[in-house]
Amino acid sequence: MESKETRSALPVETYRRRGTWSNPLNTATISMTRTNSSMSSTSLADSKLRKMSTSASPVVKEVWGIDKNTGERKDPTDMLHSLAHDFDAPGTGRTPILHSGKPPIPATEFILNLSTCLWQEASLSLSCKPFQTLCHPGILRQLKEPDNFRARCAFLYRLDSTYPDHLLCYICGVYHQRMRPGQESLRPTNIANPIFTCRHAFAIDPTPSVSKHRITFGRHISFPFIQLVLRHELHGKSHGIHYDSLSRRYKDRTDIGPWRHQTSWAVIGGHLYMRVVSSAFVIPDLPPAGKRHLLYSREDFVPFFSVCAHWRDGELMSACKCALDHVPVPLSGGGIERVGKEVLSRIQPAKSLLVSQCDVCKPMRRCPECPTEYLIEIRLTEDKMEKVISRRFRHAIAVTRWSDLGDGSSPWTLEWAAVNGHLDHLEESMRFNSFGESGRRAISGIFEGFFNPEQVPGARLLSLNPTGERLGERGHNWY
Ligand SMILES: [Zn+2]
Ligand SMILES: [Zn+2]
Ligand SMILES: [Zn+2]
Repeated sequence: MESKETRSALPVETYRRRGTWSNPLNTATISMTRTNSSMSSTSLADSKLRKMSTSASPVVKEVWGIDKNTGERKDPTDMLHSLAHDFDAPGTGRTPILHSGKPPIPATEFILNLSTCLWQEASLSLSCKPFQTLCHPGILRQLKEPDNFRARCAFLYRLDSTYPDHLLCYICGVYHQRMRPGQESLRPTNIANPIFTCRHAFAIDPTPSVSKHRITFGRHISFPFIQLVLRHELHGKSHGIHYDSLSRRYKDRTDIGPWRHQTSWAVIGGHLYMRVVSSAFVIPDLPPAGKRHLLYSREDFVPFFSVCAHWRDGELMSACKCALDHVPVPLSGGGIERVGKEVLSRIQPAKSLLVSQCDVCKPMRRCPECPTEYLIEIRLTEDKMEKVISRRFRHAIAVTRWSDLGDGSSPWTLEWAAVNGHLDHLEESMRFNSFGESGRRAISGIFEGFFNPEQVPGARLLSLNPTGERLGERGHNWY
C-alpha cells in the first residue's frame, strides 16, 4: 500500500506511464510478500494481481484509469486511504490533507488495522475480488458471532439502500420483510402495531424488546419508525415514510389526565427532531397536592407532558410548579375593595389576564445529559367546551419539548441512547454532554428555524440541572 509520500517519491513519469489500477496494488503486493511470504492466500493474490498488472488490456486500463464522465484520472489509493480513516467522508478531496506527514503503510498492516473495525473489513472484502483475497477469509463468518452483533448491524446498515421492502431488525440482526410498506402508522402503545415479520413482534414476553421512547402517557415511538423516516429521507419514498405522517394531535382520556398534546417532526441535517406541545387548563391557586394531581400520571408517576429520561434531576418540575403559581387568582373579598378591583379589571382587561413569569420558570431549559430542551409557559387559551362565554378564555400551562432523536443508524447512536437514558450508567467521558455537543445552537432554534426562519424562539437558555446532582428517583424535588 502506498501513500501520497511514496507516490511522490516515485518518478512522475513512471507513475503516469504505469497507469493507475495495476500500479498501487502491484506495489502493495510487493511489500506484502516481503513481510509474510509464507501466506498461501497472499501468494495466490500476488500471482493473480501480477497477472492483472501484466496482462491488463488497453480497454480495461481505459475503463479503470480515466473517468468517462469527468475525464479525470481515477486514483484508487485515495479511495483506500479514505476507507481506512473515514468511511463516511463525502469525497476524497480531503485525503491529501488528512494523510500529509504520515509514513506509507504496507498492505498487510493496512488490512490488520481494519481488523479492529470488523464491519469495515467485511465491507472491503465484498467490494471486489482482490480485496476479498487480501481480507481475512472468515470475516463474514465472524460477523455471525454474538460478540460481534453490533459490528454485524453496522455492516448490514450499509446495505439499507438496496432493501426498500425490508427493515433491519436490531434484535435479530437480520433484514425482515416490511408488512405494509408505505402504510406504517404510529399508533398508541396499547394497539399492536408490528412493522415487520419478526418473531419478537408477537412474543408474549417481549424480551429483548424493540427499543422505544416514551412520548407521552400511552404513546411511544419505536426505533423502526425512526429508521423508516430517515430511510425515506436518505434513499427515497419506497424505503420508508415521510416524517409528517408521524405528527399527531390528541388528548389524554379524561380518567387519565386533562392534557392535550401535539407532536411535530422534522428531519434536519440527517437527524430526526421531535417537538411535543402539551397543555392543560389550570385552576388558580392550586395547593401542592392539586399541582401533583395536574402534573403527574397516577399510574406511573411520570409527568403527563413529554419528558426525557432525566426529568427527575434538576429544576423541571419545580419550574412547572412555579409557573402554576403565576396564574392570576379570581377577584375575591367584598365591599369597596372588590368594586375597585372589578373596575380596574374592566379598564385594563389585558393586565388581569396576561401572566408574567419569573426567572425560575420563564427561561428555556436544556437537559445537560441529552439533546432535549423545555419551555414552560402560562397561556391564555380558548376552552371550546365551556358554554359560558365570559369563562371561555382560561389559563393553561403549556410545556414544549424539543428533542434530537439521532440519525437512525442504530439504537446505539449517541442521541437516541442519551434521550432514553441508556448512557446514564457510564462514566462521565462516555456520557452525552448536550452543552458540548450542541454548543450555542439551541435544538428548539434548529427545529423552529426549519419551518419558519423568522420565528426562532428567543428565550434565555439555562441548564435543566445547574447543580449537576444526579439522584433520579432517590431525589426529593421531583415530586
Ligand atoms: Zn427481528
Ligand atoms: Zn415562576
Ligand atoms: Zn435528558
